[in-house]
Amino acid sequence: MQKIIVMLCILMMASPAFAAVKVVATLPWIGSLAKEIGKDKVDITTLVKISQDPHSIEAKPSMIAAARRADILMYNGLDLEVGYLPILMEAAKNPAINPGNVGNLNCSIFVDVLEKPAAPCRCNGDVHPLGNPHYHLSPSNMKKVATGMAGQLAKVDQAHADFYRQNAQQFNAKVDAKLKEWHNRKLKGKKFTAQHKYFEYLAKEFEFTILGYLEEKPGIPPSSAHVQALIYSINKLKSDAILTTEYHNQTIPRFISSKTNIKRTVVPHDVGAGATKDWFTMMDSVIKALE
Ligand SMILES: [Zn+2]
Repeated sequence: MQKIIVMLCILMMASPAFAAVKVVATLPWIGSLAKEIGKDKVDITTLVKISQDPHSIEAKPSMIAAARRADILMYNGLDLEVGYLPILMEAAKNPAINPGNVGNLNCSIFVDVLEKPAAPCRCNGDVHPLGNPHYHLSPSNMKKVATGMAGQLAKVDQAHADFYRQNAQQFNAKVDAKLKEWHNRKLKGKKFTAQHKYFEYLAKEFEFTILGYLEEKPGIPPSSAHVQALIYSINKLKSDAILTTEYHNQTIPRFISSKTNIKRTVVPHDVGAGATKDWFTMMDSVIKALE
């Protein structure tokens, strides 16, 4: 009898009802958040490595294989993944993850988007055609994404709907607790120059200013005339630091730093940068770097 019960338990655990939800996340922060919400109920594959520029990823066979097996595909949206996601979805031939189905989660639908243009435009190579896609550095938006993600996981795996929603509530409570700590840090009124438009959400919520950008447009390297103009304005406006990220080439930030005597600060751009292990440690690290 005991043997039969053990066998039944093994069979039940192997059945689809007990299988973890297979999540494919494009970016590290999305995979990390999915783990916070799904814990042991999800099996996560993250496509983009922390060393890669998230604006210029190419589809690979291993990514297609992961997408083919996925129960849910989670992505940043705002066209950040436009270079590889359409190819991936076409090749994966997995209807579950197609737009309109519960297995397709565009995280940007929950967010208040900054720099939204009147009409989508990749003008002169701009890699932010639908507005600023880097909302994961915004605590208020992350709370919305956490709630939205839990709601979507609850649809994919109805048996654990309450579990996902409770985990999202816990995540959001932790964000609120951390916000009190982060708002005590001295970021208000600071003036930075940034390599890329990564910090606009953070600037709005923590009341600092971005005076200018090394890139002439998001994704477009600066001309020498732009660099000269930037050096002039940095010297005039007294920027506190040049903010850059670890995957960016440091030649121009170093050059501008040497010509202006302002510090070059490498800021984590996603979970995993600077050895950060989750969204909270990434944000701790970002705020410390800016401070
Ligand atoms: Zn960008």
